[in-house]
Amino acid sequence: MGKVLVIGCGGVASVAIQKCAMNSEVFDEICIASRTVSKCDALKEKLKGKSKAKITTAQVDADKVTDLVELIRKVQPDVVLNLALPYQDLTIMDACLETGVHYVDTANYEPEDTAKFEYKWQWAYREKYEKAGITALLGSGFDPGVTSVFSAYALKHYFDEIHYIDILDCNGGDHGYPFATNFNPEINIREVSAKGSYWEDGHWVETEPMEIKREYDFPEVGMKDMYLLHHEEIESLALNIPGIKRIRFFMTFGQSYLTHLKCLENVGMTSIEPILYEGREIVPLQFLKAVLPDPSTLGPRTKGKTNIGCIFIGKKDGKEKTLYIYNTCDHQECYKEVGSQAVAYTTGVPAMIGAMLVMNGTWQKPGVYNMEEFDPDPFMDALNKWGLPWKICENPQLVD
Ligand code: NDP
Repeated sequence: MGKVLVIGCGGVASVAIQKCAMNSEVFDEICIASRTVSKCDALKEKLKGKSKAKITTAQVDADKVTDLVELIRKVQPDVVLNLALPYQDLTIMDACLETGVHYVDTANYEPEDTAKFEYKWQWAYREKYEKAGITALLGSGFDPGVTSVFSAYALKHYFDEIHYIDILDCNGGDHGYPFATNFNPEINIREVSAKGSYWEDGHWVETEPMEIKREYDFPEVGMKDMYLLHHEEIESLALNIPGIKRIRFFMTFGQSYLTHLKCLENVGMTSIEPILYEGREIVPLQFLKAVLPDPSTLGPRTKGKTNIGCIFIGKKDGKEKTLYIYNTCDHQECYKEVGSQAVAYTTGVPAMIGAMLVMNGTWQKPGVYNMEEFDPDPFMDALNKWGLPWKICENPQLVD
């Protein structure tokens, strides 16, 4: 039993908080704190009478360490679950350090003015967290998160050595809009418009955005085009999976999304460089976010399934072996359960599970850790229990 302080109350947080509320045997108190407190209050209201957990709300600007420290001292949580934006990771980590409280997030820190996806800033806290005797669990979403746990699970139970990992993220859902993003548009567009890269033979290989395209026949979804992207879990898996030769990440995109993205890029709307507009500095991508559909409103209109998983190639008892571990998730089923589409659901559920395992001591170890560094079994069991059951396929279709 314990208390979680959730920071942020957007699409992902809404799912994670509802899952914490359903899991009130573990989370008997939940404090929801965000920049716009009315969103926290609305969620608290929605949960009224539905959970045994005590729910409170608070306003906080998570860019300010002193405000965060004050809030943490007042709430006295056992764990802080950071579901704000990647820009707030370091201020929240600093506040956890100052107050001696465990930390969990779902995305690595990004400086607001450069789209750089690297763990170096957060890994720099390792020694400080060790000395403080607290745990930071990084990337407890689906990818990173569940994909990292799938990798640790494959290594523990199926392989002596894993040589190749292909992480495949397929969203077969259709929301009916010509262009919309399934999670925070600013973060999503920064990710997909950045250069691609993959890890091979001990170094990064960089590609142009969307340069590498493959087709894959996804179980329960069907044939989709997918494109190679840089993704943050590659960096930590390259360190933590011994003997790994190559790790790639592919995400599916429909033609309409790509055509709109190209056009928006060509006219400068995806730029993160501030410009002067009517005497005021604005960031074009932030303005674009303001005119795009809010991802949290896509739930009722999105139909279809997601399929996210990892294909492993390696050796067991001297013989080559291939394995595919994946989850499929139905947008409409998620909407029925928590009022959100599957992309928020597949991130919010693992965020709750990560916070639970840190809070109850199963995944507690002073320092800063990525998901694959812990025993995957309790996490894999919890995925089955909390709405993201996974499947294993031996001899899957491989990606060339
Ligand atoms: P949203 O934009 O829907 O929500 C972000 C929330 O953070 C909002 O409630 C926002 O408040 C709040 N927030 C932003 N800035 C501050 C601040 N300075 N102080 C306090 N609160 C703040 O984003 P998502 O829910 O889509 O994404 C949340 C996180 O999940 C992101 O870091 C994203 O990268 C990550 N993610 C991870 C995935 C994974 O698989 N690992 C997949 C998808 C997302 P306000 O309401 O005022 O705007």
